[in-house]
Amino acid sequence: MPENGFSAEEFFGDGGGLTYSDFILLPGHIGFPTEDVDIETNLTRNLRIKRPLVSSPMDTVSESKMAIYLALLGGIGIIHYNNSIEEQASEVRLVKRFENGFITDPVTLSPENTISDVDKIKKTYGFSGIPITEDGTLKTKLIGIVTRRDIDFETDRTKKLREVMVDRLVTANAGISLAEGNKILKESRKGKLPLVDKNGCLVSLMSRTDLLKNEDFPFASKNREKQLLVGAAVSTRDEDRERLKELVDAGVDVIVIDASQGDSIYQYNMIEYIKKNYPALEVVGGNVVTARQCKSLIDKGVDALRIGMGSGSICITQEAMAVGRAQGSAVYHCAKFAREYAGIPVIADGGIANIGYIVKALSLGASTVMLGSMLAGTNEAPGDYYYEGGVRLKKYRGMASLEAMDKGGDKRYYAEDNNKIKIAQGVSGTVVDKGSVTHFGEYIIKSLLHAMQNLGYKTIKDLHNGIYDGTLAFEARSPSAQGEGAVHDLHSYTSPDAALFYPHDRKRG
Ligand code: GDP
Ligand code: 5GP
Repeated sequence: MPENGFSAEEFFGDGGGLTYSDFILLPGHIGFPTEDVDIETNLTRNLRIKRPLVSSPMDTVSESKMAIYLALLGGIGIIHYNNSIEEQASEVRLVKRFENGFITDPVTLSPENTISDVDKIKKTYGFSGIPITEDGTLKTKLIGIVTRRDIDFETDRTKKLREVMVDRLVTANAGISLAEGNKILKESRKGKLPLVDKNGCLVSLMSRTDLLKNEDFPFASKNREKQLLVGAAVSTRDEDRERLKELVDAGVDVIVIDASQGDSIYQYNMIEYIKKNYPALEVVGGNVVTARQCKSLIDKGVDALRIGMGSGSICITQEAMAVGRAQGSAVYHCAKFAREYAGIPVIADGGIANIGYIVKALSLGASTVMLGSMLAGTNEAPGDYYYEGGVRLKKYRGMASLEAMDKGGDKRYYAEDNNKIKIAQGVSGTVVDKGSVTHFGEYIIKSLLHAMQNLGYKTIKDLHNGIYDGTLAFEARSPSAQGEGAVHDLHSYTSPDAALFYPHDRKRG
């Protein structure tokens, strides 16, 4: 029925490579308010998140700060591996330690430590409320606490903590509920509430600052212990088995095997290794763009697939290698196959240039989208802002740009260690300042709720059913239709955030 558009099967079934800007979705019926829309989704077979947003494991996008604030919004960050094993594991720990209802692995010191040891912890982790135990570990009795107020004005940083710690403590028994702990914290007016077992040993800690954070982020992606969820990337190289172990020890929730062409013997071996040694760990395989590639990785045991080859904004793979696939077709065909063959979700990775493309990726069967350029340039992305021509910018670079490869990012691209000539598959560039992810992310999420309402679907599950039962209607967009759909014929205009809608136009000037 062309007057009602085409089904996804009709639209994508003929073998041509199509992508996000090539089609538009026809509206459905609005029969509910946006408050009724629920965009909770599967990141992997067993891991659900409340919002379908994932940050890309790139060194100008995803470190702990991005992962923390994205997880608070209900998405998840994947920590990049263009760093040492210790650095990556520490980034994972920073996320796991942040904003826990109960901090289950609190940093402790002994009375023999000095104020400068607290300074070091403050520098590394960002906090300075430190419980003091007899021997500095969780195995011995809690005997005091040091907080910022005890050491702020002390000029002698070599002073022992036994001289400055507070030893009259308000504690509670381990095992109390979060609500009970919150109540004690509020009533005691203390900054920290240590929870102790019957022997007086510290089990966990509650922090007053988290009371407010809990209330501010009701959709946060958390595990049962109220720790934020976080992912991390590893390469397919054998040497990354050690990295993997450290990441698991740090508490990582999902591992993304990061390779530009995922259908390789190296990736098969890595998946098998992970599934044998860490059977409970969720594994995302990729990147893949065909059903055949998907089948190979699913057969090895992955819990989700990352889809995209050559579609990233910083990426030159399709031009340099003549290999890849138009992202719309890749997402549609892979998502359909993964659903039918194994019932696992796919992540649409790369090429998401505006909010509409997120809606389109979900409408092609993706359960989540992975964002690089869209999140680069936010406060939470690594790197400092600088000005160029009066515009506030941050650096954003492909992991296979020469610059990133020089720092080790080439593990994704099968470059040999001793390669004299490095083949770049990405570029380095800049993106404009987008402000805080907390604000920017909420804007994206609200827009998604409206989009779902316009399409007439209350959940991502319903939307996906609409793809496969043919009720979700697609129509081709000619180049002039694309022009008509964008802002046109104005002398000048202001948009809520031009960077959100037309990031590329800014570059073109
Ligand atoms: P502090 O007063 O300097 O300890 O810092 P804040 O209370 O302002 O912030 C501490 C933040 O770090 C809270 O969100 C805690 O949940 C988090 N955190 C994570 N792990 C730990 C830990 O081991 N000790 C402390 N004190 N805070 C932690
Ligand atoms: P973006 O969201 O910027 O369009 O794309 C981000 C995605 O591009 C990443 O998640 C990753 O899959 C891919 N990518 C990152 N760096 C490079 C690179 O240097 N070359 C290629 N070909 N792809 C890259």
